[in-house]
Amino acid sequence: MTPNLPGEGHQAHASDLLAAVQEKVQACMQCGTCSGSCANSFAMDLTPRQLWRLAQLGEKEEIFNSKTFYLCSACYYCTLRCPRGLHLTEAMAALKRLAAAEGIERYKQSANFYRTFMDTVRRYGRVREMEFMNRYFMSMKNPFFPLGYASLGIKLMKKGKVSVEIPKLFGKGRFDRLFAKVRELEERP
Ligand code: SF4
Ligand code: SF4
Repeated sequence: MTPNLPGEGHQAHASDLLAAVQEKVQACMQCGTCSGSCANSFAMDLTPRQLWRLAQLGEKEEIFNSKTFYLCSACYYCTLRCPRGLHLTEAMAALKRLAAAEGIERYKQSANFYRTFMDTVRRYGRVREMEFMNRYFMSMKNPFFPLGYASLGIKLMKKGKVSVEIPKLFGKGRFDRLFAKVRELEERP
């Protein structure tokens, strides 16, 4: 089973995904409550409010030149507080799926992270850190990529936060059926 991004149950057409985002935010009145509520906005180059305006205008290139949507950690706070009741976290997730579907280069690392994370959850019912990191590093297809994480990995191992485990390379995942069911539900019109 191919690992997927959250909600990435099927390969929707890119224009459908963008249209879905536009539909979700079309009633945005630019009040800024989402931006003021977002704990990650300090690191974003566009505030969520600005992102929704660009989405309304269909400014896809500007949206994908921004790192705002992939810094969304899906906490749902903006969704809870939006006075228009807009499904903003879902809109952020749809932008992530769109970036992955279109192979946007600067989103590749984040998309690979999501996929490998969810794949370890599908296989074991939880994250097995060592296997997750190995798969994530391999997915980047860059032998030098793991070096940037070496000191962090050593620190985590010293603190017993990461255990050395032999990865399970073959066989069914514990949550294959659950993931298949979610995919089936997502593919329903
Ligand atoms: S909180 Fe809702 S209405 Fe206000 S700017 Fe954000 S998306 Fe728009
Ligand atoms: S769901 Fe995403 S955009 Fe909304 S407040 Fe949380 S991190 Fe920010």
